[in-house]
Amino acid sequence: MLDKIKQIQHQIEEAKQKSPKPEADVTLIAVSKTYPIEAIEEAYVNGIRDFGENKVQELTMKIEQTSLDINWHFIGHLQTNKVKYIVDKVVLIHSVDSIKLIDEIEKQAAKKQIVCKILLEINIANEESKFGFDLNEVDKVVKYIQQLHHVEVRGLMCVAPNVVDKEENRKLFQNIYKKFVDIQLQNLDNVYMDILSVGMSNDFTVAIEEGSSCVRIGTAIFGNRQYAKRMER
Ligand SMILES: *Cc1c(COP(=O)(O)O)cnc(C)c1O
Repeated sequence: MLDKIKQIQHQIEEAKQKSPKPEADVTLIAVSKTYPIEAIEEAYVNGIRDFGENKVQELTMKIEQTSLDINWHFIGHLQTNKVKYIVDKVVLIHSVDSIKLIDEIEKQAAKKQIVCKILLEINIANEESKFGFDLNEVDKVVKYIQQLHHVEVRGLMCVAPNVVDKEENRKLFQNIYKKFVDIQLQNLDNVYMDILSVGMSNDFTVAIEEGSSCVRIGTAIFGNRQYAKRMER
């Protein structure tokens, strides 16, 4: 696993040189969904501190299974009735895709007297199978969040189409980056726009070249997913 991580870190460095901000950090999130806690511990020993999970029950179970000082990221579709289980356990919720969900996060974060950091998920290719806001809706959503006290928007996220040639996604990555910068320049309350979570195992280099500051990588680190061992809710 160490070889794979080193290889990815090297590719991240190379891609950064071609990006709009070569000096800025890119966060590598290891997407550990379906893999056992031992795989997470191995990645941790090899220097990874940020891990992403997409199911509430799997995440909370893994948190109970380890005492390692991990930054947990929630990256999957989140049902409103499950917000309360994770709102104070993760450093960032990447996949916020509705106003209803924003309202629930505000409510649960208020109860716990915290400010929850979120990204707005964008359905960048308007795919029916995917969640997320339309790029044109985002201005309205960030304006709405300005009046909240327990939710803070840190940026945008997208899951791009699963393409054979990663170049096919470049234009989409340019579109989300343009919106990201556009909102950044508006200097809105509760809206910081310092994290752009774009890029997965097969397209992260192109994503970074086009401005991503955070890549979510599963299979390229851990190998094929281990669905049989996964505990579904
Ligand atoms: C599974 C998943 C990833 C990682 O995908 P890989 O192709 O294995 O790198 C990234 N983001 C989200 C939202 C995911 O669900």
